[in-house]
Amino acid sequence: MKREALVFYSPTDDPTAWRDALAAELPDLDFRLSAQPGDTSEIHYALVWKPPTGFFAPYPHLRLVTNLGAGVDEIVGRNDLPDVPICRLSDPGMVQLMTSYVLFAVLRYARDIPSFERSKARGKWEFIHPRPFAEIKVGLLGLGDLGAAAATALANLGFTVSGWSRTQKQLAHVNCVSGAGALDGFLAANEILVCMLPLTPETHGLLDKRRLALLPEGAKLINVSRGQVVDEAAMIEALRSRRIAEATLDVFVKEPLPEGHPLWALDNVLITPHLASNTTPAIAARDVAESIRRIRRGEEPLHRVDPKRGY
Ligand code: NDP
Repeated sequence: MKREALVFYSPTDDPTAWRDALAAELPDLDFRLSAQPGDTSEIHYALVWKPPTGFFAPYPHLRLVTNLGAGVDEIVGRNDLPDVPICRLSDPGMVQLMTSYVLFAVLRYARDIPSFERSKARGKWEFIHPRPFAEIKVGLLGLGDLGAAAATALANLGFTVSGWSRTQKQLAHVNCVSGAGALDGFLAANEILVCMLPLTPETHGLLDKRRLALLPEGAKLINVSRGQVVDEAAMIEALRSRRIAEATLDVFVKEPLPEGHPLWALDNVLITPHLASNTTPAIAARDVAESIRRIRRGEEPLHRVDPKRGY
């Protein structure tokens, strides 16, 4: 008898955790690794991260492709995608991790921690009077699942928070603006800028030399989106001159960030290895399973992306 199966591929995620998490939700679904797919006519679902070119060709009966993460830049835009819904993950665990990272990075600047780290290295007791958070303007580029949650958490702490998106949003206590025409003024107005945009043809290189120069003197930059959204050379130049005073970077044009890369040498840059957020299979499997149930019923899956739009 034919079975319904899902094919899994990821160079980084643990298949056992996903197998167990999905079995708890959908005991009737076969979980197969792409290295041993069995009868490929039984494979209706794909759960993938960075699949190689041509990956989907052996599976003509696919009904749904789920990207094993929030960022879909590695999957949309390629010309070997099957003509089926493409979904991304968005789970509360991922939102919580990302929010915690952004709060940490913003608070670290708001409370002058990098200055105290440098004072400590010099053996100096150097008092800096803490500023009220309401005086500190934080701008978030991107108000999606992750950006909106981070903006709300920052607003709840009392920061003056603004957010920029493609289409207009309404978020309590967040000054929301939208569209390309609003970007220059937005950059000039925020002393801490958090980049939470997806990488798309429109956002590639968006923070170029001209736009980085619009940030207020001594601005702080936090990038948790994708390295390619920022002109890395222009950012390094601005960090060297301290026009941009500090940066917290989780994502880079080339990952892992190569040994000897100029960013490693900058003492005003905090580098983390692309882990601002990631997926917890036990939590994320609920939505993956729900999308499969919806596809079975002929309904729209959760968190569908628009490949033409790029996110
Ligand atoms: P969403 O797709 O939910 O939201 C994207 C946001 O960006 C939306 O508000 C969207 O506007 C806005 N946007 C997209 N294009 C433009 C544009 N051209 N101009 C203005 N605004 C634009 O994404 P998430 O919030 O879930 O995630 C954001 C990104 O974070 C991911 O794409 C991924 O690259 C990155 N990420 C990084 C991780 C890490 O560990 N560092 C982990 C997870 C994700 P609108 O609302 O109008 O559509």
